Amino acid sequence: MIEKLIPFVDLAAQQEELRPEIEARIRGVLDHGKYINGPEVIEFEARLAEFAGAVHAVGVSSGTDALIMALLAKGIGRGDAVFVPTFTFPATAEAVLMVGAVPVFVEVEANTGNLDPASLETCVEQVALSQLRASAVIAVDLYGMPADYAGIGAVAERHGLTVIADAAQSFSAEVNGRRVGTLAEVTCTSFFPAKPLGCYGDGGAVLTDDDNLAAILRSIRIHGAGQRKHENVRLGMNARLDTLQAAILLPKLAVLAKERDRREELAAKYTRQFSSSMRVPVIPEGIRSAWAQYVIQVEQRDRVAAGLKERGIPTAVYYPRCVHQQPAYRALAQNADYSTAEHLSERVLAIPMHPYMDAETAEYICDSVLETVRQV
Ligand SMILES: *Cc1c(COP(=O)(O)O)cnc(C)c1O
Repeated sequence: MIEKLIPFVDLAAQQEELRPEIEARIRGVLDHGKYINGPEVIEFEARLAEFAGAVHAVGVSSGTDALIMALLAKGIGRGDAVFVPTFTFPATAEAVLMVGAVPVFVEVEANTGNLDPASLETCVEQVALSQLRASAVIAVDLYGMPADYAGIGAVAERHGLTVIADAAQSFSAEVNGRRVGTLAEVTCTSFFPAKPLGCYGDGGAVLTDDDNLAAILRSIRIHGAGQRKHENVRLGMNARLDTLQAAILLPKLAVLAKERDRREELAAKYTRQFSSSMRVPVIPEGIRSAWAQYVIQVEQRDRVAAGLKERGIPTAVYYPRCVHQQPAYRALAQNADYSTAEHLSERVLAIPMHPYMDAETAEYICDSVLETVRQV
């Protein structure tokens, strides 16, 4: 039995390594006092865009606001249908409702839990028979694994849909050498503390290569501001990234690639140990996940989780319910087959995953998971 508590995500270990730089950056903000849109925000946006290989990165107040802003910037609202996977954090669908559009829940792939392009096609055809306009699809990169953007993009092109990436969990992931941030027309991400790139509060960003869209996003972020002072040209929000959060994110972004490599090593170790005893994540050819979560699938989930808890190992369930099963969204559920998503929601179990886990702890977790799964 390991004596110290095993954290699910070890933010303290990361802070210990980066603390001097983070403190110096925070002190810098306290010295200049530009708390709103300060120089750290501008510097962070430039580095973030560079990291992703995108032309523009717009820092915003949260991942949820990033999604709302992307929809607003594309002019999506009343009368529009926006396709979302049903196996996701509810914010994906919530953002659609917030702009007055209708979320259409789409089934997911069994292997990845990500939006299934064939089901998307079927849903688009059904919407074509209704009063709604099929306008956009929000693809979610579940657990850090990019969605099938090639498959989704082909359906989107046939039907004239805008593709928005909900990359809240996948910043630092890659598809064939291209990083998240360039895989869709608009990419939204979150800096919630436990995400792969997290700040010390709420924050997010929208990335795009489209100059016009970036300008609209920057305007929406400050109440729809126009070029001239005291001029408001569109409906907007107060949705800025705080200067202090940008200051905290700068040293964290500098180590993100290294952290992703370490997460990848831990994931590879887990997979080597577990693959003959349980269902493990499937990563398609050419993809590198951000490994926000390492998720196994087990039949007796509650008993496995209880067994691990007894051994001092925390687990989490993302997500125990699909969005179409949530009380706030149930009434919007289409009469469709979501059996794959529902099957996943009953079996997925996330185990500790972060870049600062020592070899001894990783070994202990591997042994405990194998033992517990065998015993239940
Ligand atoms: C975390 C998350 C969000 C919301 O991000 P916030 O910064 O918490 O608003 C949206 N979508 C997904 C898939 C998420 O995991």
